[in-house]
Amino acid sequence: MAELDACELGIAEYTEQLERMGIRTEGCITKQDCVARLLEVKAALDAKDRAEAEARGEADQAPGAGALEQGAVGVRGGRRVDGAGVNKGALRCPRCATRLVSKKATLVERAGAEASEGEPGQPAVGLTLAVPLPDGTWQEARYRWWWRLADHNDFDNVAMSHFHATPHGRQRYPLCPECTFGPLGLQTEGNAEVLLACELLTQQDFALVSDAQDFRAPPGIDASTLKHMMSAGMGSVTFPVTFAEQRLGIQIQDVEDEPGAVEVAAFTEQDGVRGPAELCGKIQVGDRPVRVNGDSCLGLDYAAVLDLIIGAPRPVTIVFERGAGAARAQGIALVPHQDWARPPDATHDP
Ligand SMILES: [Zn+2]
Repeated sequence: MAELDACELGIAEYTEQLERMGIRTEGCITKQDCVARLLEVKAALDAKDRAEAEARGEADQAPGAGALEQGAVGVRGGRRVDGAGVNKGALRCPRCATRLVSKKATLVERAGAEASEGEPGQPAVGLTLAVPLPDGTWQEARYRWWWRLADHNDFDNVAMSHFHATPHGRQRYPLCPECTFGPLGLQTEGNAEVLLACELLTQQDFALVSDAQDFRAPPGIDASTLKHMMSAGMGSVTFPVTFAEQRLGIQIQDVEDEPGAVEVAAFTEQDGVRGPAELCGKIQVGDRPVRVNGDSCLGLDYAAVLDLIIGAPRPVTIVFERGAGAARAQGIALVPHQDWARPPDATHDP
């Protein structure tokens, strides 16, 4: 239906609109009354649209089918996305409403490869989420629409189970960290991406989201405590930096004793010119690149991360994590630029 913006309509116009919809307007004498009535009508029509869509069996057919309800905690299975297919809202636990993801996660359709459980001759629709039951059997459910996160760092809040053997390979589950509702989806060992079944989450309009309400510090924790934890390497923050340049002027290296973690080792200069990574002023030695244009660096060594950075189209957005390595970064090392070629010595720069 057409959007009715009550605020922009004069009383006469809105009355006309209502009459055209077959709604009697007697008794609506002030604009306030009218606006309230109009919103009521709009809500009723939206509900009717949804019911009709469900009756047509469209509820699980098209992205965006679960329209968002204004004022509600969220709509179970809602799939509002932007032009790039990315979730526009907050994804919440359907049981306790804890906020799990904010404006991240790409909507993907998983058709499923196994044909055995579908209609005769037809492939089964959806990817299977297998959950172990206490009696040793598996409860399997198929979902067609999923939210894809590059890795578990895309969560605002989450609890992850351990990896364990399932009928579909070794997997672990994301759960609600507050009420342990779940599993909400799965992550397959060796693959950083996390998939969340759309139907198992509620999506809320981001305009209704409050950081202050969702991310209250626990009692006894204030900003100075958090700052201390950060400097002691007990906590970390992530931040994105975007570069238009091909050469960034940083050296990265594997973090000692932490396989799959990479950190900035130094800034580089070429012909006396410092690189954009140093000049932007945002990056410190010890910061860890964790994402390159949306691709996760988790589990990669420095050579693979370099390949990602060098191979990414410009502009490239790199997400850095600061925390664990920051305490070791004393002073800034500046070294000459070297072109990258495999096989490398311990450090290299893009
Ligand atoms: Zn919960």
